[in-house]
Amino acid sequence: MRGEVRLRKLKIKYSFFFLAFFMIIFGFFLQFIIIFLFVSLHEAGHIIFAKFFSVETKKVIITPVGETAVMKNIDSVSFWKKFIIFVSGPLVNIFFGTVFLFFDNNIFEFVENINFTLAFFNLLPIYPLDGGRIFMLFLNKFFPIILSNKIIIRVSVAFSVLFIIIGIIQLVLFPYNISFLCIGLYLFKERNKTYFSMTFDFYKHIIKKKNVLGNMTLLKSFYINENFEIKKVLKNFYFDCYCVFYVYVNGKFQRKIFEWEIIDYIQRKGVYGNILDIFRETPYKKG
Ligand SMILES: [Zn+2]
Repeated sequence: MRGEVRLRKLKIKYSFFFLAFFMIIFGFFLQFIIIFLFVSLHEAGHIIFAKFFSVETKKVIITPVGETAVMKNIDSVSFWKKFIIFVSGPLVNIFFGTVFLFFDNNIFEFVENINFTLAFFNLLPIYPLDGGRIFMLFLNKFFPIILSNKIIIRVSVAFSVLFIIIGIIQLVLFPYNISFLCIGLYLFKERNKTYFSMTFDFYKHIIKKKNVLGNMTLLKSFYINENFEIKKVLKNFYFDCYCVFYVYVNGKFQRKIFEWEIIDYIQRKGVYGNILDIFRETPYKKG
């Protein structure tokens, strides 16, 4: 038992049913339906644009804090296509929020607020929210992957702490309203899980990079010496270009080594050791 109901590509967490149950018995049936409807339309926005760019949706997970569409080959599409896929969900909410601005009625006002709130939260630069994924896209354009991951984790933690502080103030000013506190604590609790999944994604990406990017696209050059640690070399890897390292021994150029040669070594021997260990393993092909 994994705490979820599975219907083909759909997974619904049991905790979602608890939320539904409590909202309905406390008299928020209509609110529950509205939130669920617009969260689903948001997710449909992502799925429709993904399909348009031939990105397959592997599954949709429904949790009490929202829905997530897991996409299969998202890394194989270009920067702007990814950007459109990530931004399309919040845009659906901005669209409906704007449409319902023109209706004057309590329920429609609720619909409007829910849509703007959904768009706002999802656009915050917190990973794995849409805003966090967009932020990551831009970070990866300018910085190596590991540095990008560190930045996004710090920003996400800063936001979760900010939410916890706002949550405490909210609790003092409006007793019983714990919405911000819950979001903050949830994000704070998730930070390690996010970090692990990012590390996993990093290795998955550098191993599969050749299938995704094809041979030689952009090359970034680095100058290092033979005692340079492999772990430190990894810090230079970029998302959408390859690294080439010019290795100097006693101040004299010895040979160059490509990113994929290093990855090949890591897959066989692990990340411990230095560049010299790779030289002993792999014969030098000139060119
Ligand atoms: Zn989204």
